Amino acid sequence: MVNAFQPAIQLEVVVIGAGISGLAVAIETALSGHHVIVFEAADGLHEIGAGINISPNASRILRQWGLPAELWASATHPTSLSVRRYSGEILALEKDFDAKMRVRYDAPYIELHRVDFQTALYIRAKELGVEFRFGERVNQVNFETGKITTHSGLNAKGDIVVAADGLWSVCRAQFLPKDFEGVPRPTGDLAYRLVLTLDQIQDLELREWISKPSLDIWLGPHSHAVGYSLRGGTEFNIVLLVPDDLPAGISRQVGSVEEMRAHFTNWDPILTKFIAVADSVKKWKLMHRKEMRRWVYSSSNSNFAFLGDSCHPMLPYLGQGATSAIEDGAVLGRLLGHIQTKEQIGKALEMYEQLRKHRGDAIVKETIVQRDVFQIVDGPKQRERDELLLSQLNEETKHAPFPIRLLCPQFQPWLFGYDACAEVDKAVSKDSFVVVKDVKTEPSPDKSDIGSHRQLNG
Ligand SMILES: Cc1cc2nc3c(=O)[nH]c(=O)nc-3n(C[C@H](O)[C@H](O)[C@H](O)COP(=O)(O)OP(=O)(O)OC[C@H]3O[C@@H](n4cnc5c(N)ncnc54)[C@H](O)[C@@H]3O)c2cc1C
Repeated sequence: MVNAFQPAIQLEVVVIGAGISGLAVAIETALSGHHVIVFEAADGLHEIGAGINISPNASRILRQWGLPAELWASATHPTSLSVRRYSGEILALEKDFDAKMRVRYDAPYIELHRVDFQTALYIRAKELGVEFRFGERVNQVNFETGKITTHSGLNAKGDIVVAADGLWSVCRAQFLPKDFEGVPRPTGDLAYRLVLTLDQIQDLELREWISKPSLDIWLGPHSHAVGYSLRGGTEFNIVLLVPDDLPAGISRQVGSVEEMRAHFTNWDPILTKFIAVADSVKKWKLMHRKEMRRWVYSSSNSNFAFLGDSCHPMLPYLGQGATSAIEDGAVLGRLLGHIQTKEQIGKALEMYEQLRKHRGDAIVKETIVQRDVFQIVDGPKQRERDELLLSQLNEETKHAPFPIRLLCPQFQPWLFGYDACAEVDKAVSKDSFVVVKDVKTEPSPDKSDIGSHRQLNG
């Protein structure tokens, strides 16, 4: 188990939001030896019952956090990544996907149930001494004094305040001049999200499909679908992406199962059989925001940083919203481990922004490019795409730039090969505010997934 580092000075860090980004930064900051208090508007943990893909760029970080062994035991490891036309024809395939990920990136590609994931992060944060104030919605953020106030009248001031309050971020609204932007903007897409359990499914073909975990994407006109197994192959997560028809101002709504089925009538029979099992569904409007000019703010009295969806919400088409938030949290928390005086906080925040903003903004743009490839309507452009994909179907290594970005030999290493901790260590080794860390580690139960040590150096 990894223990916290003893820093030169202990900072008070206030985090707003206990979603994945808030928990990520809380864990890494606590591991750096600082005191963290998290203010969360909800009465408890709020993640929904759905799946989440965690690619090697984030699993590499999670392995260093000493998360509960149950989390790793619950993960599924997709044995293949396949991309199909909506008819079912395979257009692109990466066999032995998980094994290749481990060889290429020395970290697994896993699929988790969000509730399991958020619970594991929370347990670890608590273990590291992070304090939580649930049911406390922050409604005022004073960027000059560094003071925050909650609905109930609680005040807090941190050496650093971290905005991890998601897409609808109050911090962001108060940070940016009123005329810059208002509420999040629709992307034009919505997601139907459903999770099916094995007890709901009698069909042997579907049961076998779930028990052999794979990651599958179906491409169709103005729509696409993603499916993968959860919890050791006992549940199946489906996300169906279709044009947004929710009224303006409505971001979530109970959907009609019949309407959903009708939309996918002529799709791959395996997908329609899965959809037929669902007895209820929710619709989620997918939204994004303008790129922010700055992710940090520092004055003589206050220090602020944004991370996760509060500064880079994105379409989920590369499965990178949460993984980027984990990268953000790891970079920020680890940089704070190098602080020796409070005067260095501003410098650490600058470095955080330099290390993270360009990458975060670039991934947001790639998700939009990916949508345009996934959702081409039938016709000459679609035939061109399919011919290109099929021409490389049996090739072990695709040619860059490959339109399916997760399989592109240039883009995939850039995305999955990123090592947040190494990036911090490289950056601080070139700079002056460096403190050599000595972290005690104990052997962990499963070396393959959680065995790596927190290697800190100066
Ligand atoms: C359909 C879909 C599929 C996705 N699939 C993937 C995937 O496979 N892989 C992946 O990496 N990402 C995926 N994502 C993206 C990912 O879910 C998000 O990027 C991630 O959850 C964002 O986490 P966050 O903590 O920044 O924000 P949130 O999860 O929104 O958390 C913000 C937290 O702040 C709290 N809060 C808000 N306002 C206040 C306030 N004023 N005071 C106190 N607390 C407040 C909220 O209650 C919440 O707990 C997907 C997204 C969607 C929609």
